[in-house]
Amino acid sequence: MTKSHHPETIALHAGYRADPSTGSVAVPIYQTTAYQFESTEQASNLFNLSELGNIYSRIMHPTSDILEKRMSTIEGGAAALCVSSGQSASAFSVQNIAESGDNIVCSTDIYGGTWNLFNNTLRQQGIEVRFVDPIDPNNFLKATDEKTRAYYAETLPNPKLRVFPISEVSSIGRKLGIPLIIDNTAAPLLCRPFDHGAAIVIYSLTKYIGGHGTSVGGMIIDGGNFDWGDHIDRQPLLNRPDQSYHGAIWSEAAKPLGPIAYILKARVTLLRDLGSTISPFNAFQIIQGLETLALRMNQHSKNAQEVANFLSKNSKVSSVIYPSLQKGTDLERAEKYLNGGYSGLLGFELTGGKNAGQKFIDSLELLYHVANIGDARSLAIHPASTTHSQLDGAEQLAAGVTPGYVRLSIGIEHIDDIIADLTNALSKL
Ligand code: PLP
Repeated sequence: MTKSHHPETIALHAGYRADPSTGSVAVPIYQTTAYQFESTEQASNLFNLSELGNIYSRIMHPTSDILEKRMSTIEGGAAALCVSSGQSASAFSVQNIAESGDNIVCSTDIYGGTWNLFNNTLRQQGIEVRFVDPIDPNNFLKATDEKTRAYYAETLPNPKLRVFPISEVSSIGRKLGIPLIIDNTAAPLLCRPFDHGAAIVIYSLTKYIGGHGTSVGGMIIDGGNFDWGDHIDRQPLLNRPDQSYHGAIWSEAAKPLGPIAYILKARVTLLRDLGSTISPFNAFQIIQGLETLALRMNQHSKNAQEVANFLSKNSKVSSVIYPSLQKGTDLERAEKYLNGGYSGLLGFELTGGKNAGQKFIDSLELLYHVANIGDARSLAIHPASTTHSQLDGAEQLAAGVTPGYVRLSIGIEHIDDIIADLTNALSKL
């Protein structure tokens, strides 16, 4: 299986043909902690990284290995690392190259959990995160200094759903030796961040990739397209001896294995030390989801576009937020970076404000009222009274949450049934 195959094919075949001992066609759940070494020589090779293979399931296991291979091949990357949640993927992606005293520059338009992680936990660890408005890519440059180690953003952040200028910001960073890390959770297959210059792509697998709301997981994919060794001063963690791995210099040590310095370091230091391992069972569940991802993304996008069109015509709705309905630069970016659909997320504002938002949610019968996105089922939430309720009014507005804002994650049910439920809930206002 190669990168020249189509994503639909890669999702079903990459990294695995049949289990050599049983012939099992479905990827097995390899529920084991340890692996029999072939010899003392092989064990030693595995530990000194001259050979890659299974050592201990905190650091790698065969079920997640197949998920990693499928995701990195689909994405056009060099290698990937599966972790226990999207949160772990975000944290590792930064901790792998930034230490106390360093900073990263991050878009203001990010998931609230990432914002908390960056603004509180990473800050307590001495890593400063500087937030800038992505409307002007130069804001990233303005916030950069000699201690800036990465730029970070989401392709399609909610609630604003303004698509991020990936190539504009990645090219600013590349001139300075600064990689762009892109969280592509909301737009798998629709956006290919490596094609636009991103160096690292991360996912919450919990959402569209798993797709069925059953399992939490995360993924970091190394594009293999960033030469860490060319930026010795800018990227010290990949270019100075690592005492935690008998003095390895990762940009050098990884060379015989391919352009995988970043992801190799993340696995054998951060995953080894912090232990945020995905379970074989969750990796298996997420593989089942990945196998039908292309079909689902297509249907999510089609259904959401129809819902957006429907809501735009309703007198109780003052505005609809959906990438294809945006204007100016935001629409240009949506068209440039999203291909084959605009994903399943959309927002709308009810003229009746907060009360109308809550009443609307309480009147839904088919759509679930949950704090999640990317499920095969349609989901709804009223951010002002839930996910964003700890923010004051001004902070809510800055985050794009007005009192009457409702967020939908449109699923793959029949469109007529979704519209019927929305029509019924709107009629109660
Ligand atoms: N990134 C985005 C865009 C998300 O929406 C989420 C969760 O909602 C995360 C990361 C965190 O993922 P997880 O819940 O798998 O830890």
